[in-house]
Parts: sequence; C-alpha cells; structure tokens
Amino acid sequence: ARQKHIRNFSIVAHIDHGKSTISDRILQATHTVSDREMKNQLLDTMDLERERGITIKMNAVEVHYLADDGETYIFHLVDTPGHVDFSYEVSRSLAAADGAILVVDAAQGVEAQTLANVYLALDNDLEIIPLINKIDLPAAEPEKVRQEIEDVIGLDASDAVLASAKEGIGIDDLLKQIVDKIPAPTGDLTAPLQALIFDSAYDSYKGVIVTIRVREGVVKPGDKIKFMNSGAEYEVTEVGVNSPHPIKREQLMAGDIGYLAASIKNIRDARPGDTITHVNQPAAEPLPGYQPMTPMVYSGLYPTDNAKYNDLRDALEKLQLNDASLEFEPETSQALGFGFRTGFLGLLHMDVIQERLEREFDLDLITTAPSVTYHAFVENDRMIEVSNPSEMPDAGEIKWIEEPYVAAQIMVPNDYVGPVMELAQRKRGIFDTMEYLDEQRVNVKYEMPLSEIIFDFFDKLKSSTRGYASLDYELAGYRKSDLVKIDILLNGERVDALSFIVHREFAQERGRDITTKLKEIIPRRNFEIPIQAAIGSKIIARSTIKAYRKDVTSRIHTGDPDRRAKLLEKQKRGKKRMKSVGTVDVPQAAFMAVLNTD
Ligand code: GDP
Ligand code: MG
Repeated sequence: ARQKHIRNFSIVAHIDHGKSTISDRILQATHTVSDREMKNQLLDTMDLERERGITIKMNAVEVHYLADDGETYIFHLVDTPGHVDFSYEVSRSLAAADGAILVVDAAQGVEAQTLANVYLALDNDLEIIPLINKIDLPAAEPEKVRQEIEDVIGLDASDAVLASAKEGIGIDDLLKQIVDKIPAPTGDLTAPLQALIFDSAYDSYKGVIVTIRVREGVVKPGDKIKFMNSGAEYEVTEVGVNSPHPIKREQLMAGDIGYLAASIKNIRDARPGDTITHVNQPAAEPLPGYQPMTPMVYSGLYPTDNAKYNDLRDALEKLQLNDASLEFEPETSQALGFGFRTGFLGLLHMDVIQERLEREFDLDLITTAPSVTYHAFVENDRMIEVSNPSEMPDAGEIKWIEEPYVAAQIMVPNDYVGPVMELAQRKRGIFDTMEYLDEQRVNVKYEMPLSEIIFDFFDKLKSSTRGYASLDYELAGYRKSDLVKIDILLNGERVDALSFIVHREFAQERGRDITTKLKEIIPRRNFEIPIQAAIGSKIIARSTIKAYRKDVTSRIHTGDPDRRAKLLEKQKRGKKRMKSVGTVDVPQAAFMAVLNTD
C-alpha cells in the first residue's frame, strides 16, 4: 500500500534553467526544511557548487507531500547537473527514477542540453512532465516555448506547468501533476532483493555509503548482502533516506530510494551500476548496470611534492567513488616524476576534479595540458592509442594519424548563423545540416574535431553570439588528420610534459604563441633561459627569458589589507604549484599555456 504513495523522479534541464531552484521550492512547499534552514540552491551542498552557482553532483532527497485528497505521498526527488560534462550524473539518476520533470526557461526556450537530457529520459521510458519556468521574466514567452517543446521535442505540452521558481508560482500544480502523472513504483516486497547502486560516497566513519534504488525485495540493518558484480559480501549497518539530512530507517523496500552503509572499506567492492542482493536468498541476476563512460580528454596529474604520490592515488580512488566518470592510471614523466594519466568528460570536469583534490584532500597538483586520444598507425597498420602527446611515436614511424570527431549541434538565433559557421569552419568543422526550430532560431549541425570543441570553442561561440548559442556534442568516430607533435625545450632540454599535438596548418603559429607565452609565465633566473618549440629535430619557434629575478611581491600596491593578504596567499599557492625541471622552475600556468591561444 505504501508503494502506491511513492513517486520517484529526476529534474532535468539545460544549465541555469532553474532545476535547483525548483528543488528548493519543492523542499519548502513540503515543509522538508524550515524557513530558517532554507537557502538558495539548498541541494548544491559542495562549496564548489555554491561558489560557481552550478550543480555538479546529483542529489537524492525524500519529501512528504500532503495532497488535497488527504493522502500523504512520498517523493524521492533527484536534482541533476545540466552541464554537458556531467551528463553521466543525469543518466545514472534517470535509471533510478520513474519520471522526469523537464524544466525549460520561458525566455530561452529549448536549448541543446534540454534536448540531450530529454532524450536520456525517453531512453529510460520515463513519464515526462514539462515545466516552463521563469514566467516572471519580462522576456518570458511561455506560449512560444510551449509550442517549441511540442515541435522540437515532440512532447505534449498542453498541460505544461507554468512556473516561476523564483516567485513560487506553479509549484502546487507541479506537485499535483507529480502525483497524477508519474507512475508509482512496482516491485515485489517478497521477491529476492535487487537494489541498483546509482551513486556512492566515502565517509571516514561509516565507510562507503551507497545511494540505491530498491527494485525488488526489502533490505534492513543486519542483513547479509552481496554485491553481484564485485562479489563482495557485507552486513548492513544502516539504511535511511536524505531529507535533506540523513534519517535512519528500519528498512528500505521495493520502490524506495535511499542510502545504505555496511562498513565497506574497500572502494572497489561497491561501484555505481552494481546490484545488491541477499547472500541467503540471492536474485537470479543483476539489474542492467551503466554503460561505462569514455573520457573525452586526458591529462597528467602530478603532486608538486613527489612524496604525496600515494596520497594522490588514495584521493583519486575516493573521488572516483563519488564520480563514476573519472578514470586514471599511473604514468611517469621525466619532467614531473610519478603521477596519473587521468580521463575526464571535459575541461569543466577536469577543473572540478583538480579543485576537489586540492580542497577535499589538501593536495597541491600540477596538471598537464589536456589531450584527446589520437590513433597513430604504424608498421603493418598497427594502431597505437595516444592520450599523452609525449608518447606519440616519431614522425618517421607513423603512417597516418586519426583523431576523434564529434557530432555537434548548436542552437542559435538565426541572426548569428554567420558568425557561428565562420567559427566552426575555422575550427576545422565539416558542415552537416541546418534546421529551423522556429522562425527565429536554428539548429546547426557540424562534425568537428573533438580537440577543437573541447578547448575554447564554447567560449568563442558564446562571445560571437552574445551568449545566445547553446552547444551539445557526442563522439562520432575517428577521421584521418594531418597532425604533428610539437615539443618544447627549456634551456635546451625537452620537457615531455609540455608536448602537444596540433594540425600541421597551425603548427608554426602555435609554436610561436606558446614560446611567447612561456616567456611571460616562467620566472626569471640569474641566467638566460632559451625556450624552443620543435617538430622532431626542427626548431620552429623560439624566445628567451632574460637573466635576473623579478620580485613579484613588490607589484602589489594595494591599500586594502584584505586584498593584499589574499594576493599574497594566492602567490604562495602559485609558488607551491611549481615544478623544477632541470634548472628551470615551471609554474602550473605553463602547462596550460597551450590551451588558450589568441
Ligand atoms: P539550474 O542550473 O538549472 O539548477 O538553475 P538554478 O536553479 O541554479 O538557477 C539558475 C539561475 O536562474 C539562478 O540565478 C536562479 O536564481 C534563477 N532562477 C531560477 N528560477 C527562476 C525564476 O523562476 N525566475 C527568475 N527570474 N529567475 C530564476
Ligand atoms: Mg542546479
């Protein structure tokens, strides 16, 4: 009977369309948090999320809704991130839900990630409730957006909730629709236990805590459980729900979303995607897990202090538990020592991981420039995967190189189609199609090298369309390209961690850019430091850092003592994030110099 009163759903949308604010209003309307506790984007609990104003992690909470019919319903709500780099979070949360609320900004309309996320929901056969948010904005055009949802996505939007999360409008309608439209979970309480792990985190007291969706059966403290993929066995110590703070429960049953702890010390035992069952009455087979994510970019992570290598491995393992899309394996660099080649879903993801490693694990890191995975073909058409540019075979051995391409879709007002196409062309894009979304907006599709998309394409796209364009992409396969590796020599020594791969056409220009930039970034010494860019043994560009040491602190002429202290602190950090390579000190910024050209 309880099951009939449960509703499990995710909130999905393009970034900034208001998912987290809708979640706030649901928490308030259901009196889950007191007014005193309430704050904006309450579920964005990580410091990083609050500072950047974005959701990075999904968050599952239970709320209780007293409906007009006098019945109380239990909602399990999962707020999700919108940025393309975190779509794995979205897809995992959708696999645990029975419905989705699709939030669309009334002034912006359907954007690239609106489409991407709604397709993920449809793939999971979820009931979708469209919600048009921000109707308080002067630029809101709810009727036009309603039409767009029907035309572009193909969803019936005649009942779409018209809402302003900011002003609390439409929330009652939403809560009613959740009860009416999202199906109650099914599942047999007497069947063998099957619970899908869709998220996990490490707690130093309780061990690994997994977030689960119970599909069949019941689980409670004291139960002997088995992780069906890893084979590990444990005894449950605690189950409960987040509301939004953890509340212990006597049991979780088919249809519930909640957490489970079992003093799990080995992180590998309890990965997202695994199924939990009972040791004594096991399920016949595990639930379908998740497709593993293929990282889009790789970079090298190195502790500035070599003695911290094991700490870094530990930290990466713990983070991986909380971020199933993170991948890493050991690598060594002549210049940087022992570290890890780490795979990310994009640059924002990379940035977030680096920051979390530094804040949550107190590590100082050097991150090398991100690189996509190239395929180098050598003798007998043997293919070598190269995700670290310094490992590209010598030009003489290579028959040809292929690089990853993506299918990109760019949604933009038609006034900006010209600049968008110009930019895409400049970034080696191959035009595919262009469709009208309505009279004013188009969806332009290109095939583009992943390396060009990942680096600064999005920033350039935003600036050339005054922020109006949105972008989504997915891997489309490999294509042959005329690529070369550029090596950087400092004081005559090749620094492997500074090598990068570019299209031959841009090699000269990039070589010049980088040597000029490194000259600004690398601190002076009491001797001259030549900087050279080379393809093989051929030097294509050079610059020289003059002798002397520059006293950076003397540049701080600011009266504000707070600001001064901050600057000094920042410099101290900056100094820590520096690596001595031979006789030259190379700061973190040098490794990223290859990123932002022009
Ligand atoms: P998310 O990225 O989808 O989670 O979006 P957020 O909930 O973080 O909201 C993004 C921004 O839009 C924030 O600055 C919110 O204050 C703002 N916002 C959210 N809902 C509304 C609304 O109904 N009206 C207006 N005017 N602003 C809103
Ligand atoms: Mg959010």
